[in-house]
Amino acid sequence: MSDSTQTLDETTLLNRVQAPEGEGREILDAATREAIGRAPVQSVADLDDAIARARAAQPGWEARGHEERSALLMKAADALEANAEVLARLLSREQGKPLNGPNARFEVGACSAWLRATASTPLETQVVVDDGEVYAELHYRAVGVVGAIGPWNWPMMISIWQIAPSLRMGNTVVIKPSEHTPLSVLAMLAIMNDVLPTDVLIGISGDREVGARLSSHPGIDKVMFTGSTATGRKIIEASAGNLARLTLELGGNDAGIILPGTDPKAIAQDLFWGAFINTGQTCAALKRLYVHDSIYDDVVDALAEVAALMPMGNGLDENNVLGPLQNKAQFDIVSGLVEDARANGGRIVTGGAPAPELGELFYPVTLVADVTDGVALVDEEQFGPVLPIIRYHDVDDAVASANGLDVGLGASVWGDRDEARRVAARIQAGTVWINSHGGVHPMIPFGGVKGSGYGLEFGVEGLKSVSVPQIING
Ligand code: NAD
Repeated sequence: MSDSTQTLDETTLLNRVQAPEGEGREILDAATREAIGRAPVQSVADLDDAIARARAAQPGWEARGHEERSALLMKAADALEANAEVLARLLSREQGKPLNGPNARFEVGACSAWLRATASTPLETQVVVDDGEVYAELHYRAVGVVGAIGPWNWPMMISIWQIAPSLRMGNTVVIKPSEHTPLSVLAMLAIMNDVLPTDVLIGISGDREVGARLSSHPGIDKVMFTGSTATGRKIIEASAGNLARLTLELGGNDAGIILPGTDPKAIAQDLFWGAFINTGQTCAALKRLYVHDSIYDDVVDALAEVAALMPMGNGLDENNVLGPLQNKAQFDIVSGLVEDARANGGRIVTGGAPAPELGELFYPVTLVADVTDGVALVDEEQFGPVLPIIRYHDVDDAVASANGLDVGLGASVWGDRDEARRVAARIQAGTVWINSHGGVHPMIPFGGVKGSGYGLEFGVEGLKSVSVPQIING
């Protein structure tokens, strides 16, 4: 732990976290496919050691109290801010997202903003009964050691969503970033650890096997997981062994419904970013758009006009606001879904084929019109820069379609606010946005329903979810 908030250069930062020359696993720049560094490959034995250290550090961390922990989280936020540009550049190369637009600089900024908000959110003791005879209070105590497991799409921000409330409540954290994006997360942890006490926040760079051990480990009291529904199920099974409490933020396939009478041009830009933020690789992005027949063609045209204005390419180029897919497996999923939609009557409005002239993993913004429910591009999560646009005639049908899948992370309704709010109440999703899609806020609880998981993050509810309640009766 040090008091200094120093600004590191890219090479120094990378050298602090990467494996020694000749060791580790090579991590490629998502845009250029050139090597950027070597991720350490840590073993299950390393993980066991990390959990033992985190357990040993936990009582001392909890004993510091809320005020001191919050002050240290504020310092960690300062340290991230002092290194924001170097972190954004590393994130841009490793993940692929451009520096500009709602992308890498935005993500790094959100990390310090979330740390600050979490550090300053009060969680008051509640007097539950005080009737002259009985006096009982509800307190929230630390759970113990939190195991955090994250995905590759918003690697730094999602890690902070797991770390900040956990540390704030007096837990220590062992975090395993996605094997696709370990360097940016490890770099962020290194900067935070310059101001945090030893062993309260430990990063472990490993593969799925390490993730599986982390979630099933007897020394883990709580698992914060963000990733696919399939992995979420395995984590639930693992929790039968250690009884770890779980927060599961899983996949989604968010529907947007545009009501008749809505002005397509007025909403086109917000619709676009609702769907294509982080080049579509976002859990709560708009992934299927239901448009009333009366304005269908105008919405398609307005979206295509906005799409034509959004440059895609290497993230370090200041002009670009869209980047590559992060990895080949996701690129193949996206390409396959577009081909399948085309074969099933989908009309490609723009895009529709890879863009090898930009690089191996680039797929252009693709709007697919005239598709229907039942086509894989509509029913499955594309997690990329492709949006199916489905025509509806009766809003009841659009609501039935929105609710027709086994996931329910987010959704949106676009149009007259009062009417949209009535429709929103009928949709099965953790969040329904009105006339926007996907915005998150550190004080507004966020979480899914159905196959999108359970548990809430952010705000007071987020603090409770990394705590155990304790009643003091008397
Ligand atoms: P993934 O489930 O493949 O991997 C996520 C993490 O789990 C990785 O770190 C991986 O190593 C680890 N892991 C794999 N097997 C494991 C196991 N058996 N036990 C424990 N950990 C294991 O997901 P991904 O491909 O990295 O991420 C994309 C998915 O995440 C999408 O479905 C997306 O919708 C979802 N996502 C959800 C949210 C949300 O907040 N709901 C946010 C971002 C992404």
